[in-house]
Amino acid sequence: MSDLSRRRLLAGVGLGTLGLVAGGWSSAPAYARADKWAQLQRQLTGQLVWPDDPRYVRLAQPRNLRYAALMPKAVALCKSVEDVAAAVRWARETDTPFAVRGGGHNYAAGSSATGLIISTRRMARGRLDGATLYAQAGARNRDLAAILPEGDDLYLLPGGNCPNVGVTGLTLGGGIGPNATWAGLTADHLRGVTMVTATGDVVTASATVNPDLFWGLRGGAGGNFGVVTDLTYELVEVPVRRATTFIFDFSGVDAVSRAGRAWQEARRNGGRLISGSWFAGRGTAGVWCRVRGQVLMGGREASDVLAPLIAAEPDASEVTTRSWWDAYLWYRTPVSPNNTFWDRSLYAEQDLPGRAFDEITRHLDAFPQPGRAFGGFQLLGWLGGKVNDVPATQTAYVHRSARWILEVMSGWADPTDPSVWPTRVPADIREWVEQFWDLLLPYSNRHSYQNFPDPALEDFARAYYGRNLPRLSKVKRAWDPDDVFTYPQAIPLTAG
Ligand SMILES: Cc1cc2nc3c(=O)[nH]c(=O)nc-3n(C[C@H](O)[C@H](O)[C@H](O)COP(=O)(O)OP(=O)(O)OC[C@H]3O[C@@H](n4cnc5c(N)ncnc54)[C@H](O)[C@@H]3O)c2cc1C
Repeated sequence: MSDLSRRRLLAGVGLGTLGLVAGGWSSAPAYARADKWAQLQRQLTGQLVWPDDPRYVRLAQPRNLRYAALMPKAVALCKSVEDVAAAVRWARETDTPFAVRGGGHNYAAGSSATGLIISTRRMARGRLDGATLYAQAGARNRDLAAILPEGDDLYLLPGGNCPNVGVTGLTLGGGIGPNATWAGLTADHLRGVTMVTATGDVVTASATVNPDLFWGLRGGAGGNFGVVTDLTYELVEVPVRRATTFIFDFSGVDAVSRAGRAWQEARRNGGRLISGSWFAGRGTAGVWCRVRGQVLMGGREASDVLAPLIAAEPDASEVTTRSWWDAYLWYRTPVSPNNTFWDRSLYAEQDLPGRAFDEITRHLDAFPQPGRAFGGFQLLGWLGGKVNDVPATQTAYVHRSARWILEVMSGWADPTDPSVWPTRVPADIREWVEQFWDLLLPYSNRHSYQNFPDPALEDFARAYYGRNLPRLSKVKRAWDPDDVFTYPQAIPLTAG
């Protein structure tokens, strides 16, 4: 696809769709107009969206349908920092449970509440000034991709590859993606924020203004200190004009295990210039895997890097050298619907030994519900390199010596009882996931990615923040001493 058509495509799904909502609250039920909610609406320039509004489910439903019963009384579609401040103050004064939502992709309903969702969805504009990007907090990956500069000078904000993930949630928890190995985390490119505090005041944070807060916002995860409303990033220059994308498919226990080992070898060959994942699952026909990624090299050099995967004899493969932007677009994931899942992550600092792939593949083969539910694993190579050039204590994102994320994935169809949250994980899948976890623990450093929150994670705060936890608790005490911004895995006020 040409650069021009890329821009049209992205503009069509991005900024072009913003600003859809006019003010007013015509769909508010009559009973609501007289109570505390009426006060809130009077204070907002944006709209309150009620359950009978056709947009309500889209705006309020959690991404993970295990939490589908956790729905708010209303969603405040904020239009400005003043709206956000008014909503926070109102929620405190009226003792209404609330949560802050951007892209809504939290794994564990961290942006859901029974009272009010403070949504930044209508605050999604972005603006470029040279290599500086200004973004409103509600922007999603797709919105910012649409405004990256054209022409000979290519600049990028490295981030995830799901178009609908919110940039604020992504950044506050770190932000990994296909370009992190050479460009670093999304959070590493953050230069400043505006934030509404627990008292409804508006503050800024940067390396020189409120530096401790700025430190905590780069890896401390969303929903802990206040509501970020604006972000400033410094873009990174893309060092190449062409890239080679690859897919290698394998099936059967032996071939899948072989492919995992070959993937590690290819990564060693490519250093910072290769990224991707070994994504494996169990279908009705047995175990399969797909190794998918990019090498920032032309065809011949890329073939040398990928030689171990080619030699592993895939069932099918696709290796294509493209323009940088085509590779960027190729690597985006299609938008997927909300679904019911339980994913768990562990960081590994070293390559896995060969036997680990046999163990993982055998465990995949034992998934109890092939064809009816999903059981999978990915060895995600979006880490190391530039991410690890930053010392572990320089930002709140502590996982600076990790090379891989080991992600166990499970998903199933209908919640057994949709009126409760989180709905029960089917017993056989739970057992399979827990056994998988035990199998992987020895290969990990026992840390987990805070942007993949896992409600079953023991000692979650240590796993997400490691040695940075005491300082994060200090930042929490300084900015939210009453624990107004909280959820089951929020940063504790004191680190025990
Ligand atoms: C399909 C899918 C793909 C993903 N891909 C990637 C990926 O490629 N790379 C990666 O690193 N992660 C990825 N993630 C994880 C993702 O980064 C996190 O879930 C992220 O927190 C989502 O941000 P959000 O705004 O979409 O979610 P939300 O649920 O809206 O917010 C996430 C958290 O941040 C808080 N928050 C939201 N807005 C604000 C704000 N303005 N101020 C303060 N706190 C706020 C929320 O309260 C919540 O606690 C993916 C998740 C999913 C479901």
